[in-house]
Amino acid sequence: MISSHIDRVLISRERISRRVAELASQITRDFSPPRVAADSRITIVPVMTGAMVFCSDLVRQLPLRLRISTLRVSSYPGAATSSQGAKLVEAQLEGIVDSHLLLVDDILDSGNTLRLLIPMLQSYKPASVRTCVLLRKKRERPAEIDVDYYGFDIPDEFVVGYGLDYDDFYRNLPDIVSLKPDVVSPKDA
Ligand code: 5GP
Ligand code: MG
Repeated sequence: MISSHIDRVLISRERISRRVAELASQITRDFSPPRVAADSRITIVPVMTGAMVFCSDLVRQLPLRLRISTLRVSSYPGAATSSQGAKLVEAQLEGIVDSHLLLVDDILDSGNTLRLLIPMLQSYKPASVRTCVLLRKKRERPAEIDVDYYGFDIPDEFVVGYGLDYDDFYRNLPDIVSLKPDVVSPKDA
């Protein structure tokens, strides 16, 4: 059972669920008239695969007429636990022209992912680009890199669960947790 791999629960499913509901009401307000025109296009852009669980909970609480366009970025290939530089692997962005975009990711860490994706999205000439992450890591990153919405600030440690993986495992854990040291091999330390 994967529960035996858990070292510590950092954020429980109950706290996540309460916070996602708060974010959803804030986002609903910001993407509704008078803040955006009534006939606006709205597109939610989850960064696969990490944002899958968070985004699926979030969008079901947005009573807006919206589309979803996924894109895929690889920054922690395989069993790495530190960012190896973000690379766009796949994008499905037809139709984002003139749309108000909400880019959704699991976690803001070094900021490489946003630094790659925001200019790329801007190049499609959307109406606006806003960003939302569930977690924001407390660490140094360029001051200009921040998000419009975030769920929780967390310490600079490696976490999994609620969509976040280690070597593509553990995404199905319902809480945000840290793993026991013997589960995470120190390959890239
Ligand atoms: P950044 O590009 O900001 O350094 O990192 C963003 C991406 O790195 C996230 O979308 C996520 O995939 C991955 N990442 C960063 N920190 C963690 C972490 O603590 N755990 C996991 N599982 N992934 C992380
Ligand atoms: Mg990711």
